Amino acid sequence: MARITSDAEDHFAKCTIPGCGRPTRRAAKLGLSATMCTYHVQRAARFGSPWAETVRATDLKPYLATATRWIADRREEPFIAHTLLCLGGLLWGAGPTESSTNIKRRSASYRARMAFARLRDADVKPERLLALHLATAALIADDRDSHQVREFRIVQTAKAAHRLSSGTHWRWDAPLPNGDTVPAALHVYPKSSGRVLRLMGEELEAICGTVTGRDLEAVRQLKREKHGPHPSQLPGWRPRWQRERDARSA
Ligand SMILES: [Zn+2]
Repeated sequence: MARITSDAEDHFAKCTIPGCGRPTRRAAKLGLSATMCTYHVQRAARFGSPWAETVRATDLKPYLATATRWIADRREEPFIAHTLLCLGGLLWGAGPTESSTNIKRRSASYRARMAFARLRDADVKPERLLALHLATAALIADDRDSHQVREFRIVQTAKAAHRLSSGTHWRWDAPLPNGDTVPAALHVYPKSSGRVLRLMGEELEAICGTVTGRDLEAVRQLKREKHGPHPSQLPGWRPRWQRERDARSA
């Protein structure tokens, strides 16, 4: 424990993410990170990477279409059939849903389970979850701006899955002073904490990892044939850090 309070020069003074320049949490005596500032530590927790852009639904779309087709054509194939069965178990085994307002103080693993229960209630099918896992992995592998690590893939897959659940909705007729009523509604969408997303992503990875590992290259290839290459694979493309550097000096 002595290391925590020590002033020894075992940390960087400035955040190591290019272009940041804020003091690291250790230098600011705020925490244990010796390489990153508070902003980038929190960003890594929420997105699965301190710097990579979160996966956008529009970028995922052609990959999702390809993966969905791929799975639909192979529902009987043993590995895919088994994976879909396990995903069904994950959704149906999650138990009854609780209203989002009641679970704020529950543990992360409980909230991850509730997130799967909500997906089931929103009629999300096992095929959709496998397609999301496969599509997210393919997009991240194709995108040269992306962060090629397991952590980023896991959190981004969970974020995409989480987007499919519908939250809790109330509708009622609110009385007016003159005796009329107006329709009123309240929509509460459960916030996804980094911890919950990691747990969801770990579960999906454990179930879908075999099929995704085996079929990733085929799906990337099919997507290229049908929807064209990812923008980062076109000639003349420059990485994000270079585009940002040029924008700064312009
Ligand atoms: Zn930073």
